[in-house]
Amino acid sequence: MANLLKELKEPTKCQGSETMTDDKIVKLVFLARKNKENGNYSEAEKQLQMCISLFENNMKKDKTPQTLVEYLTTKAEYHNLKAKVMFKDSDTPLQLRENAVESLKLMEKARNIIEEKNLPGKDDIENNILKALKNTIDVFGCIIPEAENHYVIKCPIRIKNSFRFGMSPSIIMKNPKCSICGNNPTDPEKCDHIVGVIYDGKVCRIIYDNIDIDHTALVERPKDPRCVPHRILIPKTDMEKAFTEDEIKQKERDKSQLYCHLCSELKIIPDIDFNIFILMQKLEKDDIKSSESSKEMIISGPLLFAK
Ligand SMILES: [Zn+2]
Ligand SMILES: [Zn+2]
Repeated sequence: MANLLKELKEPTKCQGSETMTDDKIVKLVFLARKNKENGNYSEAEKQLQMCISLFENNMKKDKTPQTLVEYLTTKAEYHNLKAKVMFKDSDTPLQLRENAVESLKLMEKARNIIEEKNLPGKDDIENNILKALKNTIDVFGCIIPEAENHYVIKCPIRIKNSFRFGMSPSIIMKNPKCSICGNNPTDPEKCDHIVGVIYDGKVCRIIYDNIDIDHTALVERPKDPRCVPHRILIPKTDMEKAFTEDEIKQKERDKSQLYCHLCSELKIIPDIDFNIFILMQKLEKDDIKSSESSKEMIISGPLLFAK
């Protein structure tokens, strides 16, 4: 470890010298990857760490978006390595997971810059994020955020597997009007326009000036497949019903958050987007607000109006 610190100080010492070229970084990254492939993880870690400090020094002068992207992706590679390898005995799975998430965040930052500045490599980084995201869920599962009275399940796989239903809203529409003639379209004597047909360049629609929601039914096959729960609040007292004994024991043992491993076990990790993943991992405003009672199971999903 002492050796590593000495090496890290090197770039500061020779700041501004000719030795700090991008070539040097490229070579070091190459060496680090080679070492990683061969299982020399400590060497790879040192080399990546050196690359990061070389980059940080370079960036005092070179502030181009391209350099920033390279810096962020190198840092992501470093955290990715720390997510895979326990370097010290004191490293915990939780720390490994934090490194995995940090790596994802850095890649997402790089992706945003690539997109904003129209730099090359957008597809590559998007593929990498998706792969890393799936890998993170595969290895570590997903966090089930905990509110005062509830656990908030947002894992799409767990929801799909544990709660096989969708929502079907029943809506009362009052005072329908034809958008072409303004009359009640249900009265064939007053209006003979057909919905969807174009009359003098205008599409015929039915307009309602008053909508009431009568009820929402839980159905096996909602007409609109998007009408499925996206968040389920389970009272803490009911948690055994939704999680395995092992999952609860692990939580108590590690004094950690509750992890969902269903998604990794089923090996059908969905193509979720980075932002959804991050939202899944923490409490959002709505999660807390709805958590006032400790007795109810609350299911919420987008109430869409199926056509
Ligand atoms: Zn009409
Ligand atoms: Zn999950």
